[in-house]
Amino acid sequence: MTVAERLARVRAGIPPGVTLVAVSKAQPAEAVREAHAAGQRHFGENYVQEWRAKAEALADLADLVWHFVGGLQTNKVKYLVGKVGLVHAVDREELAREIAKRSAQRGIETRVLVEVNVAGEASKSGCAPDGVPRLVEAIRALPGLDLRGLMCIPPVEGDPRPHFAALRGMRDALGLAELSMGMSADYPVAIEEGATIVRVGTAIFGERRPTAP
Ligand SMILES: *Cc1c(COP(=O)(O)O)cnc(C)c1O
Repeated sequence: MTVAERLARVRAGIPPGVTLVAVSKAQPAEAVREAHAAGQRHFGENYVQEWRAKAEALADLADLVWHFVGGLQTNKVKYLVGKVGLVHAVDREELAREIAKRSAQRGIETRVLVEVNVAGEASKSGCAPDGVPRLVEAIRALPGLDLRGLMCIPPVEGDPRPHFAALRGMRDALGLAELSMGMSADYPVAIEEGATIVRVGTAIFGERRPTAP
């Protein structure tokens, strides 16, 4: 199946009002181009270096919107600010402050989500659930940031539904708009639980290839 065919199949299951982010990590720039030609506009990457090379190769696609969905080191923030539509995984105040500083310097606001470590997994990034209100408060006080909502990656094992539902409850309590949740294996469940953004990679592009962009 081609990228366009897979994309059409995924799209068929996504209701209006839910944004599909095609996660193109470990896929060549040509695959992004193919999806773009089929009408896809939002793309996600999770390594700064890989994203920069790909963004350069695809700079002619002016209406393409990049989402940074991966964990982020503060020293890489400077590359992203002004170039991505949404930063999905802000999980600590230090990172929020750096994005805010760089954005304010440019006179812009960067849209961000707070990543929540919904299951409290030691191996995972994301803000612990009980730290979320405080982080949200800190972000709301910073000029240069536009806090849009919450994001999570539930544990690989087990039923993701309770985690999606918990994230939705947190989002509602905080009065935020967006819920970024659901990947190839579970995006239909995430949509049932109220996702407004789904991040789908392999279901659109096939298996990831260890390749240069
Ligand atoms: C890789 C990745 C995805 C997409 O995963 P698939 O299983 O290929 O759909 C979604 N979100 C994040 C944060 C990722 O790193």
